[in-house]
Amino acid sequence: MLYKRSSALFAEAKNYIPGGVNSPVRAFNAVGGDPIFVKQAKGAYLYDEDGNKLIDYIASWGPMILGHAFQPVVNVVIEKTTLGTSFGMPTLIETEIAKLAVSMVPNVDKIRFVNSGTEACMSAVRLARGYTGKDKIIKFAGCYHGHSDSFLIQAGSGAVTFGSPNSPGVTQGTAKDTLLANYNDLKSVEALIQANKNEIAAIIIEPVAGNMGCIVPQKGFLEGLRSLCDANNMLLIFDEVMTGFRLAQGGAQELLGIKADIVTFGKVIGGGLPVGAFAARNEIMEHLAPLGPVYQAGTLSGNPLAMAAGLTMLQYLNQHEEVFKSLADKTSYLHQGLEKALEETNITYTINKLGSMISVHFTDEVYDFETSAKGNNETFKKFFHGMLNEGIYLPPSAFESWFLNNALTYEDLDKTIEAASKVVKTL
Ligand code: PMP
Repeated sequence: MLYKRSSALFAEAKNYIPGGVNSPVRAFNAVGGDPIFVKQAKGAYLYDEDGNKLIDYIASWGPMILGHAFQPVVNVVIEKTTLGTSFGMPTLIETEIAKLAVSMVPNVDKIRFVNSGTEACMSAVRLARGYTGKDKIIKFAGCYHGHSDSFLIQAGSGAVTFGSPNSPGVTQGTAKDTLLANYNDLKSVEALIQANKNEIAAIIIEPVAGNMGCIVPQKGFLEGLRSLCDANNMLLIFDEVMTGFRLAQGGAQELLGIKADIVTFGKVIGGGLPVGAFAARNEIMEHLAPLGPVYQAGTLSGNPLAMAAGLTMLQYLNQHEEVFKSLADKTSYLHQGLEKALEETNITYTINKLGSMISVHFTDEVYDFETSAKGNNETFKKFFHGMLNEGIYLPPSAFESWFLNNALTYEDLDKTIEAASKVVKTL
């Protein structure tokens, strides 16, 4: 496939936009080459500016769980647009989506909508600090919770890809309040609690990590975090920006049977428009302005178009529980196909998967950031470009999960597996 026009458009974009992109991982720095400029998308397919049709495995990094341009969402956004695109005043639809979201998510009474996953996580941590009266938080190496200062400490996703785990601009003062533990390692968490007695407000975690590739929590790990939080007066924050409304109707809390104290959302909850949210029980949410002293606000928060898209998406998922099984089945099918293709080579690999999240690491046994970082990036680069050449669009970094969407057909999956079988022989 040729991507000439994309390259020309990228060159032009670089004149006006830093690095040519509005979010770093899009720039292909991790895999080399020029990014693909997308023109439109429908269902499981991307159509780029060169006229290529690609099978999409990023689904806008998660939101498009039902495929691109899902008709009911498109219709409602068009309809709502004609009624006014922003008011900065309360609207009925905000209550409708809030009511539905809290009915779907376990263990939460109230939800506040924001405009991105970053805002959701940043606000959740502020709320946890306000609620507990403590300053420090524990995060896990390789987990990404957005680009707010407290989280850019050994973060995953683009922050790893770019080799700037401690970004310039994040002050020492901020960094000292973020304690780092290792994923799937309860002892590392216990040690931090021991060394910072009564100073830790919360543990924030991706219950299934998607920002160091896909990493699944080992049995007992999240349960252990829950007990540690209970025993030490700390809140457990589940960052369900990726997993929320994706792994199950009630997200990872439901799928894994663990209760969090604050849950953050993004991606699916906005149906593809810029939305984030955080939710908790009443006793915690009562600390939030205007009820309580913890301040948090947004001019465009609860935007009518975003709420309409999100509500339509959640309504569909609420009425179609079979979507989650269908996605998990498709992901298992892809998993088996990829396994078979890779088994026929002598390449070292690990495929991690849960629900509709999956990723391939070119190393053995990946269960935390350190093991994930051992992945052979040269092999990943070749794999990525080989697949792209076959019309398969994977996340352009080994530190990202793939996201399946339910518009993918078994024929698409077969094509993907066939492409992988061909590509892995060239690695
Ligand atoms: N948390 C997680 C788990 C994420 O994956 C992301 C983004 N990929 C964020 C938070 C930040 O969301 P946003 O990019 O919408 O700010």
